[in-house]
Amino acid sequence: MSAEPTGPAPAADGATRMPPIVTPDAVAFWAAADREEFIGQQCGDCGRFTFPPRPMCPHCHSLKREDVRLSGRGTVVSYTIPRHPHPFGFKTTPIVAVIELEEGTRLVSNVVGIAPEAVKMDMAVEVTFEPTMKDHKVPVFRPRSAP
Ligand SMILES: [Zn+2]
Repeated sequence: MSAEPTGPAPAADGATRMPPIVTPDAVAFWAAADREEFIGQQCGDCGRFTFPPRPMCPHCHSLKREDVRLSGRGTVVSYTIPRHPHPFGFKTTPIVAVIELEEGTRLVSNVVGIAPEAVKMDMAVEVTFEPTMKDHKVPVFRPRSAP
């Protein structure tokens, strides 16, 4: 006997990560992440990048914001391994890291595809995406071999 599922389907691969909390300024960022595109906000006047997305450039106070595709390359500038309490939604203990992107902005993310004891400061990483509950995706970073 088989029963057809009712209501929203769970993530195809049983994703357990929490879905992103989408603020009005970050709608484009998360929509791009769902398509596995990594975008950032660049000021239309001074050209500098900002993260997270916001209405006004913090450098020159311009209201001209442009969403542009980022390189996805960066380096680990700080990290921690939160072992207790075990972070909700993770099957194994994640590496939580501050990533500095080539474009100059920093964000908090995870480093994946590497053992916790192998992560190092200044490690070169590149963006990849992991699924979350409710069929969304979040940008995370994996070690990069070429500079
Ligand atoms: Zn600006």
